[in-house]
Amino acid sequence: MKSDKHQQTVVRVLDLEIGGGDFIIMAGPCSVETEQQLLSTAHHVRRGGAQILRGGAFKPRSSPYAFQGHGLAGLKMLAKARTETGLAIVTEVMSEEDVPLVAEYADILQIGSRSMENYTLLEAAARSGKPILLKRGMMATVGDLMKSAQIVLDNGNPNVILCERGIRTFDSTLRNTFDVAAIALLKQISHLPVIADPSHACGLRELVPSLARIGVAAGADGLIVEVHPTPEKAWSDGEQSLNFAEFDEMMASIEPYIALRGAAVPARTLETVG
Ligand code: PEP
Ligand code: MN
Repeated sequence: MKSDKHQQTVVRVLDLEIGGGDFIIMAGPCSVETEQQLLSTAHHVRRGGAQILRGGAFKPRSSPYAFQGHGLAGLKMLAKARTETGLAIVTEVMSEEDVPLVAEYADILQIGSRSMENYTLLEAAARSGKPILLKRGMMATVGDLMKSAQIVLDNGNPNVILCERGIRTFDSTLRNTFDVAAIALLKQISHLPVIADPSHACGLRELVPSLARIGVAAGADGLIVEVHPTPEKAWSDGEQSLNFAEFDEMMASIEPYIALRGAAVPARTLETVG
């Protein structure tokens, strides 16, 4: 909880300050598929203003028949992308045994929605010393999320980033229900940085830019967004992935909202946008 002792936690990753003055963009494919897919996305999102590359090498899929990720080969592709672009890497770790391996390659360990209540995984991830991106469980309350975060803190790791990624409700029209009030609430009651995931929150690429703007307006410290060179061919979550032009449009459209908050706008080096 926020207190006199803990006004705001700033998580330092490479030269970035998450929860500090800068607005943070984590972008990349749902899954690491091929070197070409990952590297082209990494270069594009970096030019578009992202500071962190996302991409799953270990994928928690609801179906056992779906692509489960490349594992170590995927981690190596992420490391190559970091060397080529300078982007920091966030990637999911699904099991306690994999923590040392994933921590060797990642700058931030992602704990997925399905794992938020896996307490032995939380403890092992905490002890790796790497910053943790803790995604809210799809059936978890804000209180449950904060208790899971506390487990990481209690295991000696102060670098926790909370992530609202949509929850399951009675309304199944969209993949999930984006709980924006949770973002505003977490910013009031917790000292930890909060990231919004507009991709998983709705499941539809057409809605991702509006949800991104809403996330900024609600007070998030950054976004995590799925981007793919050819979303219609993606091995996972293609329906909610932005193509490169859509990512550029989203970045341009969130800028005024970031500026309104007085936060630094991510530096874009693209000559033309959209
Ligand atoms: C993901 O980030 O691709 C992912 C699996 O997210 P979540 O755990 O929120 O479903
Ligand atoms: Mn995904």
